[in-house]
Amino acid sequence: MSAPFAQSLLDWYDQRAAALPWRSTHEVYRIWLSEVMLQQTQVETVIPYYDRFLTAFPTLEALAAAPLDAVLKLWEGLGYYSRARNLHKAAQVVVNQYQGVFPATAEGLQALPGIGRYTAGAIASIAYGEITPVLDGNVIRVFARLTDLEADVTQGTVKDDLWALAARWMPSERPGDYNQALMELGRTVCKPRNPLCETCPIHAHCAAFEHGTQTERPVKKPRAVSPHYDVTAGLIWNDQGKLLIAQRPAEGLLGGLWEFPGGKVEAGESLPACLQRELREELAIEVEVGQLFTVVRHAFTHFKITLHAFTCRYVAGPPQTLGVQAWAWVKPDALAAYSFGKADRDVIQALHNRGGMLF
Ligand code: SF4
Repeated sequence: MSAPFAQSLLDWYDQRAAALPWRSTHEVYRIWLSEVMLQQTQVETVIPYYDRFLTAFPTLEALAAAPLDAVLKLWEGLGYYSRARNLHKAAQVVVNQYQGVFPATAEGLQALPGIGRYTAGAIASIAYGEITPVLDGNVIRVFARLTDLEADVTQGTVKDDLWALAARWMPSERPGDYNQALMELGRTVCKPRNPLCETCPIHAHCAAFEHGTQTERPVKKPRAVSPHYDVTAGLIWNDQGKLLIAQRPAEGLLGGLWEFPGGKVEAGESLPACLQRELREELAIEVEVGQLFTVVRHAFTHFKITLHAFTCRYVAGPPQTLGVQAWAWVKPDALAAYSFGKADRDVIQALHNRGGMLF
């Protein structure tokens, strides 16, 4: 049984759907790219990245053939870099193992790196017209309110029930538009804090609106407080005025990105001692740790860091790739050619603000 509100929702979508660049295409490559970018990022932020990415890699083949570094550079600032690595990997899988043709069903798409149940449903319904649901944070919120759901939506069984409901409510016509309309409604009308119920096109079907419980839905158990770590980084200068940067291992947090080398402070360790230890462990080098250059605070999904960046002088030991993928001596004005995470880009900004700073 399709959703009783499906037609009202589609009518609303037809009247006011924003003209987003990925809405004018049925090309699966472009839809896939937009869905991956939208996984953790707001629409407004995604648009310029999406355009730049397609200019650089207009086809699946172009993306598959590109070096990972070039992909990460274009992703710089968008965060959640595993998305970029998986995108690149998936492009190579489709080109090499699927003769350049994406799997034609949501189930088949889930075999590709970085495509989970939600993204597969979005791509298959939008690109292929498959009658298959999507359930992201926006849709969960809309459904929890429509049904005035008292159960905790972070529980696995409750989520399973919502997937089942989402499947039952799928209309037989225009599944891609219906899914996009639901997400758009969640994003622009059924907002987390101040839902615009009076103007909502489906309020006649909404149990939470009827009961006045909109802002209490969805029920979620409070998040645990995220841990905090102190981290050091070295702005390591050699006597040619170059800085040492290192590329992180391909897998894991910020995998494949470049950084000012350093690492997490251990219990009872001073910041300079941490930095010297990390540089020995990762690159087998000795440095003289100078003054504190800048401090940057940054929040990742599950933890926060305070990054203490020190000016250092390179003393001894040709750098080795013990705990890093690669290293390079770079002039400060050439740093822009490398992709860095947000905290390190803040350090670079501080460096430029001070016109570079020799030891
Ligand atoms: Fe959300 Fe309000 Fe619409 Fe219900 S009526 S779906 S709570 S915006």
